[in-house]
Amino acid sequence: MKPLGPIPAGFAAIDGVLAIAGRKATDLVADAGGTPLFVYSRDMLTARVAALRAAMPERLAIHYAVKANPYSPLLQHMLNLVDGFDIASGGELAVVQDAGIDPARVSFAGPGKRDAELASAIAAGVTLNLESEGEASRALAIADRLGVTPKLAIRVNPEFDLKGSGMKMGGGAKPFGVDEERVPALGRRLIEAGADWRGFHIFAGSQALSADAIIETQRQTVALAARLAGEIGAALPKCNLGGGFGIPYFPGDEPVDIAAIGAALAERFADLPDVLRDTAFCIELGRYLVGESGVYLASVVDRKVSHGDVYLVTDGGLHHQLAASGNFGTVVRRNYPSAIATRFAAEVEEEASIVGCLCTPLDRLADKGGFPRADVGDLVAIFCAGAYGASASPAMFLGQGPAGEVLI
Ligand SMILES: *Cc1c(COP(=O)(O)O)cnc(C)c1O
Repeated sequence: MKPLGPIPAGFAAIDGVLAIAGRKATDLVADAGGTPLFVYSRDMLTARVAALRAAMPERLAIHYAVKANPYSPLLQHMLNLVDGFDIASGGELAVVQDAGIDPARVSFAGPGKRDAELASAIAAGVTLNLESEGEASRALAIADRLGVTPKLAIRVNPEFDLKGSGMKMGGGAKPFGVDEERVPALGRRLIEAGADWRGFHIFAGSQALSADAIIETQRQTVALAARLAGEIGAALPKCNLGGGFGIPYFPGDEPVDIAAIGAALAERFADLPDVLRDTAFCIELGRYLVGESGVYLASVVDRKVSHGDVYLVTDGGLHHQLAASGNFGTVVRRNYPSAIATRFAAEVEEEASIVGCLCTPLDRLADKGGFPRADVGDLVAIFCAGAYGASASPAMFLGQGPAGEVLI
């Protein structure tokens, strides 16, 4: 039997059935009209942001990285919880505008921004985190043409990276950001061109569970921001410190110690150099804010045994849960937290693999896990499904189409 990842806190059984925010999974599925279904909990989102705020210094603003989950009702819920939103495409700009989010709270990073995307972001008053000198030139020219003062920040490609992070985004050659040594000249150029100078965006990695690694990266980030702002010769209005806070997906993973990170950051803020004295600092988080608040539910449509191995074949799969199948940036496939939702309180009775309905061996949501015996009609739950689920999976693969989504 292979171990399963840890089920996040806050889920209980009612009459033996998994309850999400106090409601039975079976009832949620009936209300939604069937499976596969993503369920996101408002209460869990609210509690998560509140706990994070309590741990962080008041001066630190919290931004939500929309790409983790752009579901409109969820964005509208986040609107009242976080200070800002980070987007990475014109499509996400449209999504945040549709959700009624004030563009003044939005910043736009990401390589390969097209002219039309730059134009709509500049016209709306969104801050651009510039990824290159070429993009800066295009943004300035477009703003000139529109007769608008653009809000411009520079995304810095730092020489350091976030140790132990699942996805490295800094250090060495990268398609993201402007290399450290070229930042001062570009910053001076933007200020001289009359742009509304917004400062730096420094993102060094994702999905780290080590508080020490995050603390060290934040220390390096603040030091780098101070040095580069000094070289530009202007006080720094804003500094986005990146994010990187991970969540426990896999067996043995422990939650990140946010109290330790908050305490270290408070010390750092108490001792800032002059050039950062009035800087507005923020972090941008995706999965940490929304990942554990989501559950993916699928129905068992077949139970079969092949060479003695039990397969629970579901109506879901990697087309909604690419990450859980191990095919979204993981090197070694390990099991996400998962359970038989309709037998949530029951003991482990057998080894079984939960697979999807796609005809590819990649479509495996849980590999040889220990579960209570499940049969056709039972519901399975894959946890940690609130981030990089629906929006980061190939829903059209094999003509399957998207899963349902509800915010409760
Ligand atoms: C993807 C991304 C994030 C969010 O990452 P998480 O691991 O979900 O917190 C934040 N900032 C940038 C620049 C990103 O590309």
